[in-house]
Amino acid sequence: MESPGASSLGPSKGSGIPLKGLSPEGARELFKDIERFGPIAHDWLVAQAGRLRDSTHGHIITYSPKVFFPVTKLCRNHCHYCTFARPPKHWGAFLMQESAALDLARRGLSFGCSEALLTLGEKPEERYPVYKRMLEDLGFRSTNAYVAHLSRRIFEESGLYPHVNVGVMDEEDFELLSPTSLSMGLMLENASERFLSPKMPHAKSPGKAPKERLRTLERAGELGIAFTTGILVGIGETLEERLEALLAIQDIQARFGHIQEVIIQNFLPKPRTPMAKARPPSHEEMVLTIALARVVLGGAMNIQAPPNLASGPLEDYLRAGINDLGGISPLTQDFINPEAPWPHIESLGLELSKEGFSLKPRLPLYREFFSRAFVRPLFRASLSMDENGAQEYGKKTIEACPSL
Ligand code: SF4
Repeated sequence: MESPGASSLGPSKGSGIPLKGLSPEGARELFKDIERFGPIAHDWLVAQAGRLRDSTHGHIITYSPKVFFPVTKLCRNHCHYCTFARPPKHWGAFLMQESAALDLARRGLSFGCSEALLTLGEKPEERYPVYKRMLEDLGFRSTNAYVAHLSRRIFEESGLYPHVNVGVMDEEDFELLSPTSLSMGLMLENASERFLSPKMPHAKSPGKAPKERLRTLERAGELGIAFTTGILVGIGETLEERLEALLAIQDIQARFGHIQEVIIQNFLPKPRTPMAKARPPSHEEMVLTIALARVVLGGAMNIQAPPNLASGPLEDYLRAGINDLGGISPLTQDFINPEAPWPHIESLGLELSKEGFSLKPRLPLYREFFSRAFVRPLFRASLSMDENGAQEYGKKTIEACPSL
C-alpha cells in the first residue's frame, strides 16, 4: 500500500523531510497527501516535524519572561475577532503614560522579566483626530514616535528589552522604531486577500491586507531587523491557505534570513464581537498546522505556540515540533486574550519535564541573532555581557534578581 508522503517525499525510500524544510513544490505535494490519506498522513507529518525539531533544538523549550505594555487600545482597524481595540470613550483606551510605563517596567524587573512587549492598535491617529491632537500636544507626531520614545525610556530605566508590535510599518516607522527595539513583530495572519471582502473578518481592516503585511516583513529584511511573524489559525481559512501563508513566510526568510520566530496562534471567539459564535479551530487542526509549519520552515526555525491559548494537551504541541512558548508574564495579563491566563512558570517547567523537555528563558531576540548585523547600538554593550548564560535574562534583571 502506498504510504503518506510517498508521492512527494518518499519516506518509504528513507529520505524523509530535509532539515532545511520542504520546497514549495514538496509542500504542495505533501498537502495533497494530507488530503488523500487523512489521519495516517497527520501522524506521519507530526512524527517528521518532531524529528526535525529534535535534530536542531533538542528537547529545550524556550519562553521570554515579559511585561506587556498596552500602549494604546485605539486602532484604525476593525478586526471581527478583536476585543483589544477600544473606542476613545473607553477608560484606559487612549495612551499609556510614560510614568505608568516606567513604573510597570521597574516592577517587571523585580519579577525577573527581560522583555518589554509594547503592543498597540495600529496607527490610531489616522482615525481619531482627538487622539492625534493629544499626541501633538505631548510633542509626538505619531503613535510610533511615542512608542520609540517609550521604548528607549523603558530600556534606560529598567534594562527590559523592547519588542514592539505596532502593525504595518513604512520606511518612516522603521526609522523611528528600529534604533530602540531589540526586535519587532507583525503577524502575517494569512496570505489570502479574501479576508478583506465584505463581511469577512478583515473587511474594515486596511492594515490586515496581506500585501501590506508582506511588504512590512520584506522591509524589515532589507533593514536587517530580527522579526517575529506568524499565522492566525481558525478565522475561516482553509488548510491550503494556511500552507500558502507559511510558504510566503518561507519565501521571505529565504531572501532575507531575518525571521527569528513564527507563531502559530489559534483564534478564540470572544463575547460581543462579530465572531463571538464562530467555531475555534480544533486541537487536531492546531497540531497539524504546527507540524506543517515545522516541515515548511525547517528544523532551525523557532516555532512558537502560546501555552495560555492551548487548544488541548501541550504535549501534542511538543510532539508536533514547537520549540518555544513565546512571552509569558508573571506580572501582566495577556491583553489580547484577557480570558486566558498565563501558566505559572514553575508548573509549566514541571509539566514539560514530565515529557522529557526543559523550559529555558530567553530574550526577545534569539541568540542566533546576537550579531552586529541585527543588534542596534543601543543594546550592544548590554548583550555582549558574559559567557555564563546571563544573556538568557537582561543584564539588569540579573542584578535585580541574583537568584535567577
Ligand atoms: S489590528 Fe489588532 S488591535 Fe486593531 S482591530 Fe485588528 S486585532 Fe484589534
